[in-house]
Amino acid sequence: MLNNQILNKKGVCLLWKIKGKFHFQRFLSQNIDRHYDIIIAGGGMVGTTLACTLGKNSILKNKKILLLEAGKEKPWTLPEKYNNRVVSVNPGSQKLLSSINAWNFIEKNRVATVKQLQVWEALSDASITFEQPKNNEPISYIVENDLILAAVAEQAQSCPNLEIQYEAKVKNYQLPDFNADITQLKMENGQNFSCNLLLGCDGVNSTVRKCMHANYISWNYGQMGVVATLQLDQQPGFKNDVAWQRFLPNGPVALLPLTDELSSLVWSTTIQQAKELLELPEERFVEQLNKAIGGTFKKSSLVSQAINSFDNLLRALNCPSTNQATAPTICGMETNSRAAFPLGFGHSSQYIGKGVVLVGDAAHRIHPLAGQGVNLGFGDVNCLNEVLTKAVYSGGGLNDLSYLKEYESERQKHNLPMMIAVEGLHRLTTTTLAPIVLLRGLGLQFSNALVPLKKYLISQASI
Ligand SMILES: Cc1cc2nc3c(=O)[nH]c(=O)nc-3n(C[C@H](O)[C@H](O)[C@H](O)COP(=O)(O)OP(=O)(O)OC[C@H]3O[C@@H](n4cnc5c(N)ncnc54)[C@H](O)[C@@H]3O)c2cc1C
Repeated sequence: MLNNQILNKKGVCLLWKIKGKFHFQRFLSQNIDRHYDIIIAGGGMVGTTLACTLGKNSILKNKKILLLEAGKEKPWTLPEKYNNRVVSVNPGSQKLLSSINAWNFIEKNRVATVKQLQVWEALSDASITFEQPKNNEPISYIVENDLILAAVAEQAQSCPNLEIQYEAKVKNYQLPDFNADITQLKMENGQNFSCNLLLGCDGVNSTVRKCMHANYISWNYGQMGVVATLQLDQQPGFKNDVAWQRFLPNGPVALLPLTDELSSLVWSTTIQQAKELLELPEERFVEQLNKAIGGTFKKSSLVSQAINSFDNLLRALNCPSTNQATAPTICGMETNSRAAFPLGFGHSSQYIGKGVVLVGDAAHRIHPLAGQGVNLGFGDVNCLNEVLTKAVYSGGGLNDLSYLKEYESERQKHNLPMMIAVEGLHRLTTTTLAPIVLLRGLGLQFSNALVPLKKYLISQASI
């Protein structure tokens, strides 16, 4: 029995009273310009890869998909100079990009392979070396963010059911509630869309996540990641295939290979020091960087003695001991390649809701010290693609919560342990208390001696 009818600015709601209970059905307020099966909000590396993966999925070929990105489309031709934003792509992510044919484009342009990872720390000189696994697969690949975007966007062109809109910012979302099963999106330009399934790939400050009222645990590290493209001072014939990371009291400094002459920098440090580093003349910046990579830091004599003794013991036992190679010296940097980005931690306790899923940085944000952020996002893409395939194949709807829950639990099982490990490492390595420095130095040496443990760590970081 119809009891009441309310008109409001947003549209027409019918309020029903059935058996003493109120129910209401909301009708679309403005004219919906188009309805899609899936809308992906945010076309960063994760959103674009997700769009292309779903677009190429034959089981989903009848589903209309829309990708909305607030920014401009990235040019498909790369500038001569390397971009200062690069990511370390692990073998699992490389396979995903290959599966959608985007890796060909990346390989044809520019990609560096990391065959060895050298990690050492400034306050104890303890170190650990990760070698390329026996199958000759690199530890990771270094690729510019814009190149990943261009490669995936090029492949997305071949998906007839996928539409991409750039410079298309979503203003707000009306998520399904009570009886309404569809999501409505209001765009900044006044257009309105609706969909059965909304995929929130809109990054750290995700509006989709906020609209879900998801529980989000987050904090800032009070750190920034300073990036730049560096020129190396090397002898002819030098092969640049090692990634270097040194833990300093203010945060880690990492050199990622680009070519035999160039490396990319990610230097995590305090906000104050990051600002100072950005302001320094280029020669002074390079000087500071060389000190950070190769300089000596004041050490506790107790720590040094203990580390040396442990190292001698490992040698006596014929175990791999600390055998610290020397990181390349920096001789210059590409002009104007310096920039800094704030670093923080964040995790949403819900990845899914009625008709909505969070993917990539919208769901989880991690310190870049382990180079895992976008890799976790690509893992989400793989998993969500499998779950949606299953849902549609078995005749369920795209927004069937029982399938979406599978995505949430699978991904949280993978992402959370990785996030906790990276968080622990971050806290451990920024502590300067001598007993902690001693423990972590010994821990590094011990881990270095345990080859199976190193293999396990690399395999976990590769998927
Ligand atoms: C210094 C640094 C170094 C890093 N190094 C590594 C590394 O080596 N390896 C690694 O795996 N990860 C690394 N990361 C992390 C990695 O960069 C992120 O995890 C990754 O970029 C997240 O991608 P995303 O697509 O989820 O989010 P984003 O890149 O943030 O993309 C979100 C997109 O959504 C769009 N958007 C937002 N709101 C709206 C809206 N309302 N409407 C439409 N569009 C919208 C934005 O324009 C943006 O394009 C690093 C991060 C930093 C800061």
